Amino acid sequence: MIQTSKNIAIIGSGLVGSLLAIYLRKLGHKITVFDRRPDIRNIEFSGRSINLAMSNRGWKSLRAVDIESDVKKIAIPLDKRAMHVIGQPEYYQKYGKDGEAIWSISRGVLNRKMIDLAECAGVNFKFEEKVWDVDLPEAQLYTGETEKGEWKEYQYDLIFGCDGAFSRVRHKMQRRSRFDYSQDFIDVGYKELTIPANEDGTHKLDKNSFHIWPRGKFMLIAMPNLDGSFTCTLFMPFEGEVSFENIKTKEQAKTFFLSYFPNVMQVMDDLLEDFFKNPTSAMVTMKCYPWTYWDKVALVGDSAHAVVPFYGQGMNAGFEDIYVLNQIIAKHGDDWEAIFQEYQKERKPNADAIAELSYRNFIEMSSKTADPKFLLQKKIEKSFAKKHPEKWMPVYSRVTFSDRPYSEALAIGDEQEKIMQKVMKIPDIESIWEHEVVEKKILSLL
Ligand SMILES: Cc1cc2nc3c(=O)[nH]c(=O)nc-3n(C[C@H](O)[C@H](O)[C@H](O)COP(=O)(O)OP(=O)(O)OC[C@H]3O[C@@H](n4cnc5c(N)ncnc54)[C@H](O)[C@@H]3O)c2cc1C
Repeated sequence: MIQTSKNIAIIGSGLVGSLLAIYLRKLGHKITVFDRRPDIRNIEFSGRSINLAMSNRGWKSLRAVDIESDVKKIAIPLDKRAMHVIGQPEYYQKYGKDGEAIWSISRGVLNRKMIDLAECAGVNFKFEEKVWDVDLPEAQLYTGETEKGEWKEYQYDLIFGCDGAFSRVRHKMQRRSRFDYSQDFIDVGYKELTIPANEDGTHKLDKNSFHIWPRGKFMLIAMPNLDGSFTCTLFMPFEGEVSFENIKTKEQAKTFFLSYFPNVMQVMDDLLEDFFKNPTSAMVTMKCYPWTYWDKVALVGDSAHAVVPFYGQGMNAGFEDIYVLNQIIAKHGDDWEAIFQEYQKERKPNADAIAELSYRNFIEMSSKTADPKFLLQKKIEKSFAKKHPEKWMPVYSRVTFSDRPYSEALAIGDEQEKIMQKVMKIPDIESIWEHEVVEKKILSLL
């Protein structure tokens, strides 16, 4: 269906805001993107900010507007996990079938690229303009330097809130009756650290792996950058025996790394300086509903659903919002109320599902990876999936390499878990897990 060109504002020039701008521009709309930050392209940075893993849903959403190949040029494929377990040599776990990979991209580099691509498509950006208030029924927004200072007023036909987990646009919706909202911080924080490149610019660890040093309640991960460095993220409880709170001095930090990550310590040149210079950040799951207001305002991306990052899906889910929204737009043409209604009904259960899966992965990583029974269960699942790929697709693959709804991945994962609970009750499962009887039991339960 054809759409009449509208004058649309997008709040937020992050990954989701800039991709949405490209999609809407392609449909012939006039797009202005507001961001409170300065233009990220003019800020000097090393290109080593947070790294994101882009997977199938993200790529599919970029492909639909012909920018997949541009973005692939700034990404590095990772086809396996490299596990660094204490007392064992490094070993690898392939992610999926041959050719399946997740891709490491620096958030900063990607954001710059997306803004460039949006500008080329004819999108107008207004940086350093913070939105303080939105009049929802009138689709008006107000920007200014301070909350109490003078504001500029803008009038649009439609407004999209892509302003992240602590969205101002959502904040305005929250004040309306029957608006559901919840926010849950986890007790684990994260800190970024760097493994610099070798002198010749090559990577110090295998470049095509997602590196993990699991240590029970805390862990370190590393993803490669184009310049030969790795961005590492240390996830650790804020408080408790081994925690950020308990590492106050350089001496304590040194003891911590020597005890748990001695090999990494050797390759992190500025570790102790970075540890105290870089912030310790929090992680939150945020849910809300509705996501839209009449035919005027809609939330997309983290502003509608922020998840903890343990499935590597936050951005992928935001990009998929846009892909789905675009399909719904094609069905309803100018009826924006119908578009918004269908969009939120379609996406909300999927956003809740990826929030749940991400949270479960956090629990799994922090408390179950040391449990021998859990590890045996994973081994049985893996061997069965290898033998019967058409009958058993692991949840991770459904989320990461397929484009079936997240809610389906969650439901099928729950069914698989029920089956495995029965399998784990087979007497003497520890010694007979490779026998045919176990395989037959799973087949009978499917
Ligand atoms: C440690 C960590 C690791 C992650 N890893 C992954 C991963 O591997 N894969 C993955 O898919 N996702 C990952 N994510 C999630 C991903 O970063 C987010 O889902 C994604 O960045 C959300 O994009 P967004 O555009 O919706 O919001 P944001 O990136 O938060 O952008 C919001 C924008 O809005 C602007 N803004 C905010 N308020 C205002 C205002 N009042 N006025 C004007 N502008 C405003 C901000 O300046 C910002 O530019 C990770 C997140 C974290 C924290």
